[in-house]
Amino acid sequence: MTATLEPTTTKGAPASTFDSLNPANGDLVGTYPIAGKADVDAAVARAREAAGWWGALSFDERAEYLLTWRSVITRRIAQLADISHRETGKPHGDAQLEIVLAIDHITWAAKHAKKVLGARKVKAGLLMANQAASVEYNPLGVVGVIGPWNYPVFTPVGSIAYALAAGNTVVFKPSEYTPGVGQWLADTFTEVVHGRPVLQVVTGLGATGNALCTADVDKLAFTGSGPTGKKVMAACAENLTPVIIEAGGKDSLIVDEDADLTKAAEAALWGGMSNAGQTCIGTERVYVHERVFDSFMTEILDQAKGLRAGADAGAKIGPITMPSQLKIIQSHIDDAIAKGANVALGGSDAVGERFVQPTILTHVPENSTEITEETFGPTLAINPVKSMAEAVELTNATSYGLAGAVFSKKQGMEIARQIRSGMTSVNAVIAFAGVPTLPFGGVGQSGFGRIHGPDGLKEFTYAKAITRQKFRPVMMHTSFTRDAKTDSRVAQLITVLHGGKQTLK
Ligand code: NAD
Repeated sequence: MTATLEPTTTKGAPASTFDSLNPANGDLVGTYPIAGKADVDAAVARAREAAGWWGALSFDERAEYLLTWRSVITRRIAQLADISHRETGKPHGDAQLEIVLAIDHITWAAKHAKKVLGARKVKAGLLMANQAASVEYNPLGVVGVIGPWNYPVFTPVGSIAYALAAGNTVVFKPSEYTPGVGQWLADTFTEVVHGRPVLQVVTGLGATGNALCTADVDKLAFTGSGPTGKKVMAACAENLTPVIIEAGGKDSLIVDEDADLTKAAEAALWGGMSNAGQTCIGTERVYVHERVFDSFMTEILDQAKGLRAGADAGAKIGPITMPSQLKIIQSHIDDAIAKGANVALGGSDAVGERFVQPTILTHVPENSTEITEETFGPTLAINPVKSMAEAVELTNATSYGLAGAVFSKKQGMEIARQIRSGMTSVNAVIAFAGVPTLPFGGVGQSGFGRIHGPDGLKEFTYAKAITRQKFRPVMMHTSFTRDAKTDSRVAQLITVLHGGKQTLK
């Protein structure tokens, strides 16, 4: 961690700062204030006031601001990608790719909020035929967003864009490793809304995040590790603040005997190694049908030739952004080897001071940490399986349940449905993340709640049900004037409606 000072607690005391460093070389990228509790509360109070204006706009008016922001990001994509590149170390092309996906999500959220959340009539049913019924989804008010560093644009924007489109204002606490990216997003949005504090950033470490959890926010959207997610939930429980938890994973990619092995290997390599393996929905385990295991290994090792981590233009893999992760990656590789795994590429020496070279292990014991815990490094554990049933069983034998992939010509959909996870791609890897209409999120230790798509919009609202009486009912059953005759008619009616044996047609 690069922070140089502890957060300030006294009102009015000079703000402490922390440094954001380039993980590829240790260069200083920027120095940012550590927002204390008073600063966070003040930001939330400003957001609350701005929510009055923003929430009262029509869906179309909000969409226009959001689409303008989308255009600004698009025009200045190189600028934002460069900050992300310097703060995370990821190659420029990768930094650009996640911004491209984020732009698409902002556009979708802006264009669909009205249809998904706007007032709509619903059927009142026979018992309540005298009522006109409608439902609409109202903004909660102020949403706190806490983000990670690994996809510092795509990940928080998945909450921010949907929360804004739904009519909320947002206070965003970016990771301490990527404060510059967070500040850039808030600054450009503020420009678009002529200085109004609709999207603000508070920078700092964990304590600043904690202050946001206990501030006067109406919902907290957290993306990060499971252990921090538990702290976030505990802090939010103080005020009964609802939370979304988007946590880690241990996703697998399954390769069936009829799969296109070239494409499956390409996907496994990308899913496991891109962004130096620091992807929540990245591939960490691969289960390959034993009949094609050797061919798959030949293919993936062939494709991995020349793939390396480094800071030069030819390197396709960047550094490990968070230095403390290096020890975890090392320990997972060493544990797997100590328990009997074979090294097909890289290995124990692959872990350097800033970079980890691609590592592929095979026949990795299922009780090693390389299989049971999130590694978050450019490593793949590839194991043969006797059947797809075994592949599914091993895939599901984890407390996580975020995403995954299946490569199969005939049984892709069938296998995908058996995987206990929030998202699965068939014959591709992490494809769902780029489809704005699809919900994004996990089960189990991977968290709960959904961003993206209609579910993601509704996540930042509360449902408001309204009935309007059209005429007085023939049988007035919600009145003290109700008599035995009415009770008897009600009993007759319910018997006619629901007493018979019915089949679903
Ligand atoms: P992290 O849990 O260390 O930090 C996440 C954020 O929480 C940071 O902004 C941090 O400052 C803040 N934080 C730390 N302590 C806090 C506290 N006590 N209260 C409130 N906030 C606090 O995670 P990270 O290292 O930034 O990100 C990597 C993790 O995120 C991985 O596990 C990865 O799988 C996960 N992730 C999940 C998704 C998803 O959508 N499911 C997406 C990206 C990353």
